[in-house]
Amino acid sequence: MLAAATSVCGHAYDRLELNPATSKPLRAQGWLDDDAQKPVLPGSLVKPFTAIAYARTFPRFPTVTCNGCWGGRAHGVLRLPQAIAVSCNRYFEELSLRVDPAQMRLVCAEYGLPEAPDIVEARLGLGRDWRIPPVAILKAYLQVIAHHPAIREGMRLCALQGTARAVGKGLAKTGTAPCEHAKPMPGDGLAIWLWPEDQPRRAVLVREHGVPGAIAAKRILA
Ligand SMILES: [Zn+2]
Repeated sequence: MLAAATSVCGHAYDRLELNPATSKPLRAQGWLDDDAQKPVLPGSLVKPFTAIAYARTFPRFPTVTCNGCWGGRAHGVLRLPQAIAVSCNRYFEELSLRVDPAQMRLVCAEYGLPEAPDIVEARLGLGRDWRIPPVAILKAYLQVIAHHPAIREGMRLCALQGTARAVGKGLAKTGTAPCEHAKPMPGDGLAIWLWPEDQPRRAVLVREHGVPGAIAAKRILA
């Protein structure tokens, strides 16, 4: 077990649940009240928004062969849904390199996100340049799944067999962000979950100190 982090800028474990019908917070743990409005590093949770911006310029998503992501894992031949499910940085690098920054800014505005910096890595969810409030992340994802079937399918695969397979159902996405706690660890894991797939009644975001997103996903149903 991890010791509880004594931190000025985060807790060992944060959880936020919104009512999808009203977008109002239902429950929070760690991220209490105003905390959920304070921007955090979302890691790969930003990837769907990069995909949406890409699709504003290009008629279809590419097929990309990943021969090795950061960390060495080779994801093989991927289309968008599989790339979301395994959160392939190589795939999203292809999208991020080509994305029109003006379209990216528009997507951020439409989805209620702080403006993405024009940095390739930031659009993959790497680095410390794009922070988003937890409440804004959850609200934006509720919009995403209503309008983007390919992203939705990626999130379904993610929950079933991808990085969020610890959840096993619903729609999910994980991220691993640089740790910003006072007792620093290599990273903090995030996971978002919407359930059921059609018209979610639950919308949950968790962040756990010092673990990858795939491990943080275990917290969703806990
Ligand atoms: Zn990959």
